Amino acid sequence: MRGVVMYAPGDVRVEERGEPRIVEPSDAVIRVAATCVCGSDLWPYRGVEELRRPTPMGHEYVGVVEEVGAAVERVRVGDFVVGSFFASDNTCDICRAGFQSRCVHAVPMGGIGTQAERARVPLADGTLVRVPGEPTPEQIRHLLAASDVLGTGWFAADAAEVGPGKSVAVVGDGAVGLLGVLAARELGAERIIAMSRHPERQALARKFGATDLVTERGDEGVARIKELTGGLGAHSVIEAVGTQQSMEQAIRSTRPGGHLGYVGVAHDVKLDGMELFFAEIHLLGGPAPVRRFLPDLIDRIMRDEITPGDVFDLTLPLAEAAEGYRAMDERRATKVLLTL
Ligand SMILES: [Zn+2]
Repeated sequence: MRGVVMYAPGDVRVEERGEPRIVEPSDAVIRVAATCVCGSDLWPYRGVEELRRPTPMGHEYVGVVEEVGAAVERVRVGDFVVGSFFASDNTCDICRAGFQSRCVHAVPMGGIGTQAERARVPLADGTLVRVPGEPTPEQIRHLLAASDVLGTGWFAADAAEVGPGKSVAVVGDGAVGLLGVLAARELGAERIIAMSRHPERQALARKFGATDLVTERGDEGVARIKELTGGLGAHSVIEAVGTQQSMEQAIRSTRPGGHLGYVGVAHDVKLDGMELFFAEIHLLGGPAPVRRFLPDLIDRIMRDEITPGDVFDLTLPLAEAAEGYRAMDERRATKVLLTL
């Protein structure tokens, strides 16, 4: 089967890879219906994260179950399924508390590489969620977004305790930040302030429910958020970048007693203990337990209530994955969908 392999920074190839097989009795093998390039795939692409060897890429996927191991009970051949970037048993104490991304048996799907025609999914019963009915091509795009970027934006909004009557500030206008805006709208936020200076992303933020746009960054951005929230800062802040500047901006934009949900993968972020102490805010973040939210997100998508797949602004066949990486690296695309 064909799949994407990264050889070195800037060097992405689509090549013949081994056919996935059932290894553990709890595995399934799926035929991937659609996959995509993640913002986090750009870290090794840009040489920020080291690559030790040619690495299969991809951790977002939707598809049809082709084969299941002997111990799989809930997932059947022919099911259209959505999974997320960590396989999880969904039964351990950590999973049952809603933190499946830290399951005691978690397996990172990025190590398997779902930018491919097929993929092995460990812990299939816990990892995969069946889609009721036959999704349309449009719904497949939205379901693919649920696999990571929507689930992550939703977790950030949930962690930030977004809710009716609250003000929300979103730091980061990539796919996750934009879908954090959508999640905030769905969760009933009163005011949603998106921080963006890109016209196309601003337009999408508006479409997803942003009530205000802030183009300033750093201290000026914080000052604007405070201006818009009665001088206090937002009740709920979503951080979806992962840099020193974005994290500081997010902390300083959160009012005392407020909540910050941070989901940008932190790169060289160092927090000042004294600032954190006096910020007096709730912090919750990390790799999103997308699995917790998938059943609800799938239902909303299949009822055509939300259109998170609108973040995909470039669609290419898998064979042209290298161009997809280039387009995202050069910021010509926010999020690239790869078709099979
Ligand atoms: Zn678990």
